[in-house]
Amino acid sequence: MLLEVRDLHVEFRTRDGVAKAVNGVDYGVDAGETLAVLGESGSGKSVTAQAIMGILDMPPGKITQGEILFQGKDLLKLKEEERRKVRGAEMAMIFQDALSSLNPVLSVGDQLGEMFVVHRGMSKKDARAKAVELMDRVRIPAAKERVKQYPHQFSGGMRQRIMIAMALALEPALIIADEPTTALDVTVQAQVMDLLADLQREYNMGLILITHDLGVVADVADRIAVMYAGRIVESAPVHDIYKAPAHPYTRGLLDSIPRLDQKGQELYAIKGLPPNLMHIPPGCAFHPRCPMAQDVCRTDEPPLYEVSEERGSACHFWRECLHG
Ligand code: SF4
Ligand code: MG
Repeated sequence: MLLEVRDLHVEFRTRDGVAKAVNGVDYGVDAGETLAVLGESGSGKSVTAQAIMGILDMPPGKITQGEILFQGKDLLKLKEEERRKVRGAEMAMIFQDALSSLNPVLSVGDQLGEMFVVHRGMSKKDARAKAVELMDRVRIPAAKERVKQYPHQFSGGMRQRIMIAMALALEPALIIADEPTTALDVTVQAQVMDLLADLQREYNMGLILITHDLGVVADVADRIAVMYAGRIVESAPVHDIYKAPAHPYTRGLLDSIPRLDQKGQELYAIKGLPPNLMHIPPGCAFHPRCPMAQDVCRTDEPPLYEVSEERGSACHFWRECLHG
């Protein structure tokens, strides 16, 4: 495994109490594999990613338990210096909002080039040539001319391509993309997602794709991990999930994807809201919103049951869900 997260716990200490953001997450991704991590906002998917990237080790956020094994090494045991090296060269992150992640007063060529100057000791001239090459790679037309332009001179989709180019620059083993296409319109979303998938294969990287939208990951993910209230509630190969979900929450997410053949019909929405992480409901955290909830769900927390060798569900009634 390229990356393995084991029993990760993250808390946020606030004035009002302790928010339990991540409560025992296990997941992994291999080289050349794409894992989609799915869930509503507040499910812990971004916090887990930030813990992997090592950008969370500051109050109020605290990793209280677990291991993050990257190429066999536990990142949580590395010194800050070593950790920074791994983060700079071996893993990269792509965020939703390119405009606030890019420096507005530097040309994109200078920003891309800086990666090579700082990390590879290249001359400015060679770094500029590399920047143009990268812009070609992410299919930005007229890269030679546009390399001199500033972030605001690019469309949202093109800016997101620049973010991808930045992430790829040092050819990392792992990329984490947090809602990389959420801010874009649907057509552009699909193009950027295809690009990311192509590059992931070409570079044989591990890719963790964080999203709230099951619709965008169907074609690109190998596996899906669904998160709720800081836990993984279902984990399975992508095809299994689309065929039949083994958790009512996954089913709710699937049913809320707009479908072309259902035009005009009202879209399903999971009722209620995700829980307050300072007061996670006892038993199954999903029970207040679950259409299948029984008495046992209010008292007994479901473990991640083994549905098959490659699949787990944290629902007492996964069989009923799977066959219902
Ligand atoms: Fe619903 Fe119960 Fe399953 Fe939780 S354990 S998802 S409440 S049926
Ligand atoms: Mg988020």
